[in-house]
Amino acid sequence: MTTAAYSQAQELMQFWRPICQSYQQGLTAFPPWLGLDAIGFQALSDDFANAGAPLSIDPAQHQSPVRQLRKDLVVMREQELQELLQLLQQHINPQAHYQQLAATVIGYGCLGSQHLWKDLGLPERPRLSQLFAWYFPALFQRNDRNMRWKRFLYKQLCERGGDYVCRAPSCEQCSTYAECFGPES
Ligand code: SF4
Repeated sequence: MTTAAYSQAQELMQFWRPICQSYQQGLTAFPPWLGLDAIGFQALSDDFANAGAPLSIDPAQHQSPVRQLRKDLVVMREQELQELLQLLQQHINPQAHYQQLAATVIGYGCLGSQHLWKDLGLPERPRLSQLFAWYFPALFQRNDRNMRWKRFLYKQLCERGGDYVCRAPSCEQCSTYAECFGPES
C-alpha cells in the first residue's frame, strides 16, 4: 500500500496545526508544551511563523492547572511512557521532519483516557492513521487488522514482555476483544 509523502509545510498543516489548535483550546491530554520543553515548543512555533501560519498561544496557557496536574501524573507512569517512546522511536521514518515530535505527542497522548486521536486533538481517527503511515510506516503496516491505535501500541509492549492490556493468549480468545477492535469514533 502506498502512502502519502509530506513536505515540512504539509506536515505542519496536516498534523501539527490541528494538534496545536486543540491544545490551545484545552482539548488534548498533553502536559505543558505538548510534552516538549519550552525550547522545543518555541522551535515548533518558529516553524509555524516561518510558514506564514503563526500560533497564537499565550505562554501562560502552558502552565494551566490541568496541564500541571497532567505533568505531575506522568511521573507515576514514567516507565510506561518510556517504553512507548522507545517503541515509537525505533520505528521512525527518517524522511519525516517532525518524527521526534510525533513520538513525543503519541507517547503522552497514550496516557490520556479517550481514544488516542481525540487526546491528540486530531479532527478524526483517519488523520491519526495518516500520521502513523507517515511517521511510523512499519507500525502502520503491522496494524493490518485496523486495531485501535492505542491498544495496538500497548499490544506491541505486551509482546515485548510488558503487562499492559493482554490477558489472553490470542485475540480470538480475549474477553476484551471489542476494546481493541471496536469502532473508534
Ligand atoms: S484483544 Fe485481547 S489479546 Fe488481543 S490485543 Fe486486545 S487485549 Fe490483547
